Amino acid sequence: MVADKSLAFLDEEIAQLKKEERFINLRVLQSPQEPVAVVDGKKVVNLTSNNYLALANHPRLREAAKTAIDKWGVGTAAVRPIIGTMQLHQDFEAKLARFKGTPAALAFQSGFTVNVACCQSLMTSEKDLLVSDELNHASIIDGARLAKAPRKIYAHRDMKALKAILESPEARGARRKMIVTDGVFSMDGDVAPLPDIQDLADKYGAIVMVDDAHASGVMGKNGRGTPDHFGLTDRVQVQIGTLSKAIGAVGGYVAGAQSLRDYLISTARPFIFSSSHPPSVIATCDAALDMLMSEPQRIDKLWDNTRRFKEGLKKAGFDTGASETPITPVMVGDAAKAKKFSARLFEEGVFALSICYPIVARGKDRLRTIVTSGHTDKDLDFALEKFVKVGRELGLV
Ligand SMILES: *Cc1c(COP(=O)(O)O)cnc(C)c1O
Repeated sequence: MVADKSLAFLDEEIAQLKKEERFINLRVLQSPQEPVAVVDGKKVVNLTSNNYLALANHPRLREAAKTAIDKWGVGTAAVRPIIGTMQLHQDFEAKLARFKGTPAALAFQSGFTVNVACCQSLMTSEKDLLVSDELNHASIIDGARLAKAPRKIYAHRDMKALKAILESPEARGARRKMIVTDGVFSMDGDVAPLPDIQDLADKYGAIVMVDDAHASGVMGKNGRGTPDHFGLTDRVQVQIGTLSKAIGAVGGYVAGAQSLRDYLISTARPFIFSSSHPPSVIATCDAALDMLMSEPQRIDKLWDNTRRFKEGLKKAGFDTGASETPITPVMVGDAAKAKKFSARLFEEGVFALSICYPIVARGKDRLRTIVTSGHTDKDLDFALEKFVKVGRELGLV
């Protein structure tokens, strides 16, 4: 082959990424996604997944997927509006709506795509205004970029800042306004002040969109999410959830008014132009919803484990930030040290990811831990023991 220099710029870009410590080496899972897993050849207590309810490898869900394959095949080979909507999809969405306590629900290929779709389809004019928490997920940021509406960002969970935006001339003159927030924030594990947001939204004539990726299956009765947790099911207009985390498969959804579902079916570009879920995935999610209803003790166990692990970290002297949920950061404050912490823990048999600038602000470098309902007391005590050992080595506690 003639030396082709046309992609030489990638080598420069990669060198730059490496210099900025933003180059990603993929870690490889060599077992199913379990609370104790094999990663890159090493058996570790796994504190990195979003497998909150330990459903990703659950026998009942595996069985549901297999049954659906035998009955419906492996794929739909179509987008939803053409012939990619099976009875299975319709029935699942009806069940999801009943679960969420909303008139309707619509499934998307992922949480990412549903966020992009809702921002893009609901904020369609320069006369609209999208108002977003500064720590919202990347998919909301990208959705806001695709929306025609200008956007205003408020400081994290800062209700004074949100109010000031809603009182600004720009907001007062807007045709439509939508406030978008994560329900549970993915890096800090803190919770949006949803009652205050909804009150402000009602007062200033805005709609509220909540991304409950980390609250689906985790918060609210039977894991219905943050609107349920706060008693706001009938008020939050756009409830987003994911099927990729606690639910254990992959996908996203929006729950709300029938008109919201009808409108998105006709306008949401990822829904219209990208093929639908394979039957096995829908059947898995359907079975997972049944389990949220029939085995709420899984959620209780998740929270018991959360409390146990958080208390252990705090007792050892670690700073767990503002977390109120199973996402518990362990603050380090320095990128090199956070990476070292993670690497040493891995050697000791505990997998906790370091999260550094620019994903989080400078000086907020940390490890992020997520416990699941599947961790045993022994797993958590082992992890705590190693956190203390390595934390001491690094002078953190
Ligand atoms: C993970 C995540 C998403 C994306 O969900 P997927 O179903 O994995 O695409 C969206 N929002 C937040 C806050 C998330 O943490």
